[in-house]
Amino acid sequence: MKTILITGCCGFIGSHLTDYFLNNHNKVIGIDNLLTGDISNIKHHYHNKNFSFLKHDICLPIEIEEKIDYILHFASTASPADYLKYPIKTLKIGSLGTENILNIGLKHNSIVLVASTSEIYGDPLEHPQNENYFGNVNPVGPRGVYDEAKRYLEAITSAYKNKYKLNVRIARIFNTYGPRMRPNDGRAIPNFINQALNNDDFTIYGDGTQTRSFCYIDDTIKGIIKLLKINYQLPINIGNPKEHSIKHLVKIIIEIIPSSGKIIFQELPENDPKVRKPDINLAISVLKWKPKVDLKDGLLKTIEFYKNINKFNT
Ligand code: UDP
Repeated sequence: MKTILITGCCGFIGSHLTDYFLNNHNKVIGIDNLLTGDISNIKHHYHNKNFSFLKHDICLPIEIEEKIDYILHFASTASPADYLKYPIKTLKIGSLGTENILNIGLKHNSIVLVASTSEIYGDPLEHPQNENYFGNVNPVGPRGVYDEAKRYLEAITSAYKNKYKLNVRIARIFNTYGPRMRPNDGRAIPNFINQALNNDDFTIYGDGTQTRSFCYIDDTIKGIIKLLKINYQLPINIGNPKEHSIKHLVKIIIEIIPSSGKIIFQELPENDPKVRKPDINLAISVLKWKPKVDLKDGLLKTIEFYKNINKFNT
């Protein structure tokens, strides 16, 4: 039995990681300040004696006495709507928060896996994006707070590896979706599904020709676990290379959920990346991992989740 510290345990990816480790008979210490996480994502573990929850802001230092084997650092605002609302906090979570977590890793000699993002590639000039591409980020644009926070997270994590020999993993996670994304999260998939379920109009930003590549949460979790267990300390892309335009994504959702909503085109947010698609050759060769869930199948499971919460709320 290992002891795992998960920051952001009440968030979308963090809560699925919490499930994975508890279901596999480990101990989990979860930390979350509930800024964007939802406590109900872990409510099914309240009575599990292997789970403890600390409501804490990782921007403030914290001491943990129990020996920690693995740390998974997933605390962060992640939706563009959230990091526009909390710009300074977003920078602090990536910088002060990451440093605090790395220090816990040093103290316990833990393996520390940090959640980075495809956003470090910015609005990419290389396509698809492989790990050697340094990116095209506007540091003073609205998305800069998130992009630079995560670039700093990668830099300080690598510095702890080089200077202190901390055993690290850096996952560059591309667009992930699935149950437990907040319905009002602001990201494309929760927005479009909930617009369809409520017969609201579909809000496409720009002309909808921008692309993203969506990875279902179960595939993302499997990739993260493989990375944790393999001694590979440089950044690695975790994502699904199947690329879709946003217009096409809406079309697939409308095919599944008949809706009377119309498509309306709204202004494209500043610095919104025009394309995004991971090159996952490194993950395939190092992790022996690639995503398996087809977009339509993943959307069906996600839609089921939202139908159930809507039922619950009415
Ligand atoms: N998007 C959209 N309508 C929405 C939400 C998002 O057209 O209601 C677009 C957004 O401008 C971006 C893409 O969908 O081009 C993916 O946005 P999301 O917020 O999911 O994540 P991002 O990949 O931009 O971080």
